[in-house]
Amino acid sequence: MGRRRRKVVKIVKKKLPVFFLCPRCGKNAVRVTMNKKLGRVTVVCGFCNLSASFEMSPPMAPVDAYCLFVDNYYGMEGHEEVAARTR
Ligand SMILES: [Zn+2]
Repeated sequence: MGRRRRKVVKIVKKKLPVFFLCPRCGKNAVRVTMNKKLGRVTVVCGFCNLSASFEMSPPMAPVDAYCLFVDNYYGMEGHEEVAARTR
């Protein structure tokens, strides 16, 4: 029995996910760009070009910006629905 099980210890530095799922087109193409100098976060979908930008608050992580982006998207959708109904 000369086979030794190779122990692969991979130290994977967990990188922040670069792409998020787009609420509009469903592609994993949403990119969060944080501009610390300007204090703004820009969220853009590389597939359908849905985009939004937010003011950055110091403890904000890209995923937080992404959540805002999604909330914003569904929020807008909701408003449109309400507007359509009252028409
Ligand atoms: Zn998209």
